[in-house]
Amino acid sequence: PFWNFEIPTNGVIYERAPCVLPPPHPDVEQLRSQLVVKLRQHYQELCHSREGIDAPTESFNRWMLERKVADMGTDPLLPTACSLEISNAMYREIMNDIPVKLVKPKYSGDARKQLLRYAEAAKKMIDSRGGTPEGRKVVKWNVEETFQWLRKQNAVYEDYLERLAHLKRQCQPHVTEAAKTSVEGICTKIYNMACDTVKKISDKHWEILKEFNINEIPQPPEPVHRRKVFCYPIHMIVPTPRLPVVELSQENDIHFLKHRNETVKLNSSHFYKLEQLYKISCRDDARFDHFLARVWCLIRRYHTMFGTQTNEGLSLQGALPLSVFECLHRVFGVTFECFASPLNSYFRQYCSAFPDTDSYFGSRGPILKFYPVSGSFEANPPFSEELMEAMVDHFEGLLGESKEPLSFIVFIPEWRDPPTEALIRLESSPFKRKQVILPPYEHEYRHGFQHLCSKDDMNFKAVHGTLVVFLQNDAGYQKWGPTTERVKELLISAK
Ligand code: SAH
Repeated sequence: PFWNFEIPTNGVIYERAPCVLPPPHPDVEQLRSQLVVKLRQHYQELCHSREGIDAPTESFNRWMLERKVADMGTDPLLPTACSLEISNAMYREIMNDIPVKLVKPKYSGDARKQLLRYAEAAKKMIDSRGGTPEGRKVVKWNVEETFQWLRKQNAVYEDYLERLAHLKRQCQPHVTEAAKTSVEGICTKIYNMACDTVKKISDKHWEILKEFNINEIPQPPEPVHRRKVFCYPIHMIVPTPRLPVVELSQENDIHFLKHRNETVKLNSSHFYKLEQLYKISCRDDARFDHFLARVWCLIRRYHTMFGTQTNEGLSLQGALPLSVFECLHRVFGVTFECFASPLNSYFRQYCSAFPDTDSYFGSRGPILKFYPVSGSFEANPPFSEELMEAMVDHFEGLLGESKEPLSFIVFIPEWRDPPTEALIRLESSPFKRKQVILPPYEHEYRHGFQHLCSKDDMNFKAVHGTLVVFLQNDAGYQKWGPTTERVKELLISAK
């Protein structure tokens, strides 16, 4: 199998207050999925009608990840309490496709077309939206110059690229200026709609629970005299009511779970995996009365997060291969994934995005709210710049606080044009003991939808390099330091 639940945790935390989120309910999860689909549609429509572009691929998903870094609200998926309504990530991604979406061209013909398209779109944009008189002048002049150049030249691939880069440098600031208010408007609108959506979901949730005489509980404070303990799953304290019947069926190694008119599915191996996790971690349901309904909610939640297009969300769920996890455990004492889901975890203890649906399956909740004092951890974050940056801050904070052995081995894509802030911060971290690179095409990842895909498609070659950074405090370095021998083993395990 692709997991190992024999390995107990070496992550130690201070005892923490339980979670007062309402327990997952299939009817609520179904409503959530419908409302989030609507929200995604609104986003697409806004991008289309206001900017003439499609919503950038996965930008909604990265928006949710970014918002959660700053959000003080209580919904596990959507933001409701961010100090800034306008999301940097969403703004940046939309703006990047204005006036047109550019993709790296293959041949000189495509390169020429792109240059032409950009020039025409920039001109159109400035004509229709205005901007400053100075900006309009600059754009018009540069576009005109480009047209002339195109008429005269018999250029090759590089010439077109260079020319496009030049044109973009000249025009983009003015294009951005002209589109700013409108793009900010999209960000604000989507944020406010998310707040309304959460209100609807929450009202329905408590309405159902109140029918069973289950009421809201105020958040208990953190314990005063806090004991150090091995980390344990999020403890949900609002009781679960009787849940609707979920029907189970199985065919060709796939399990189907049906709630009312909606069926979710997963590979049978992953269904059994969830069964094991539930047995190990769930503490309020020894008879498995709620098991099927909770699995249904879990799958429904993740699919709501992934999105509705083919393969959407996939790239935010890719996992390290089995051999690497085995090595990390054997050689570096790793027992815990900082970024995971019950579906893609290797260990039985891990952090994940959703405390409510995932707690019954062993989740320690979102990583930014998890404060270990010792232990050996692996981190393979989803690609959200803001989340990755917050992760570095978080790890550095924890390493600075603790004198006990603490170690984080971080895996991130090595993208350097330009390098992300997180990558720069990792490479220059005072806690960095070593960094190594797994070269492109020489290592693999595990499919992001491993609970759905067939065995044959399970692994794929990485087309980018992966940067591995060891962040450790002194005691962590003593215990699990990246010696030459150990690092060699890691590199071999990734081949
Ligand atoms: N566990 C695998 C796969 C990681 S993919 C590995 O370590 O290789 C990244 C995972 O992080 C996804 O499953 C995503 O849902 C999860 N994630 C997203 N936000 C998170 C958060 N705030 N805390 C913990 N996990 C999170």
